[in-house]
Amino acid sequence: MTLAGTHIERQSFGATPEGKPAEIFTLSGEGGLTVRITNYAGAIVSILAPDRAGRKADVLLGFASLPDYVADDSYQGALIGRYGNRIAKGQFTLEGRTYTLARNNGENHLHGGPRGFHRAIWEPRVKEGAGGAALELTYVSQDGEEGYPGTLTARVVYSLEGAAGLRIDYTATTDKTTVVNLTNHAYFNLAGEGSGDVLGHEMQIEADQFTPVDKTLIPTGELRSVRGTPLDFSKPMPIGARISDPDEQIAIGAGYDHNFVLRGPTGTLRLAARVVEPKSGRVLEVLTTEPGIQFYSGNFLLGGPKGKAGKPYDRRTGFCLEAEHFPDSPNKTGFPPVVLKPGETYRQTTVYRFTTAP
Ligand code: BGC
Repeated sequence: MTLAGTHIERQSFGATPEGKPAEIFTLSGEGGLTVRITNYAGAIVSILAPDRAGRKADVLLGFASLPDYVADDSYQGALIGRYGNRIAKGQFTLEGRTYTLARNNGENHLHGGPRGFHRAIWEPRVKEGAGGAALELTYVSQDGEEGYPGTLTARVVYSLEGAAGLRIDYTATTDKTTVVNLTNHAYFNLAGEGSGDVLGHEMQIEADQFTPVDKTLIPTGELRSVRGTPLDFSKPMPIGARISDPDEQIAIGAGYDHNFVLRGPTGTLRLAARVVEPKSGRVLEVLTTEPGIQFYSGNFLLGGPKGKAGKPYDRRTGFCLEAEHFPDSPNKTGFPPVVLKPGETYRQTTVYRFTTAP
């Protein structure tokens, strides 16, 4: 349910180096959540959420100005496309044709390539509905862009939902058979961005299996049980409790950087993860229609532009929960399919819900 009271204010957010103007949109609802989003990268810029005593903090990593977003290479808050996460060796075959993409992560393709959707200015529209205002962002990715076939029209609607939920509805259509896997790359710190590492956050993931990876972070194709491994988050566990365990998968990711196979049917909005920050009592619940969620513990965060709190973000000062299809699905016949054909509509919905625990 979208709250009737949700309203959106828009302001200039400067211009890209190419001179394209950007805007920033502030969504505020009756549930007490305030969210700012820019149409550069469709990035979420800030989320103000109350702690158990009602004190608000910005629980999202991000930057104060557009040049910082342009300079950033950690995908802060950004919409990711055309394909979230990795495609092995930047290649896949579709309907008998092999497509070659940029290798922008060692020998692999990552997050749609260097000019992926996180580098685009999205066309914004504030939609007024019975349930209040929502922000619709549209990006038309050209046929052949970053090596992908087909003109893909991607549309993302950000809205506030329930007491304190940020809902993201994605749709996409194409004029040629293509692959698509959209997500958002928000980094959270429920103690407040810039306040230190996230190792004390307690993580729970609704998954019995994960997709183990090779040394280049490409899934081997296996679905492996989490039981008895540092990747077992079936019960709440501090992120830091096992992050240095002598474990092959942890070593490869330099921490957590793994796709979890979510329980329950793909296409149904269901709980995927729940994170509690014990000191503030803030809780983040992630609900999604997707088959998987990438839990990334910010292992490669280091330096970069100054965050909103005035200092660059260090290693593990934020975590991502990226709801999506499994990495390298275009090359893995056993994984849920990511092919989109003309006449079909790709859909995914993810909700970030903020509550508190006693
Ligand atoms: C990936 C990481 C990568 C990071 C980039 C995550 O989604 O899983 O391996 O380094 O994005 O910020």
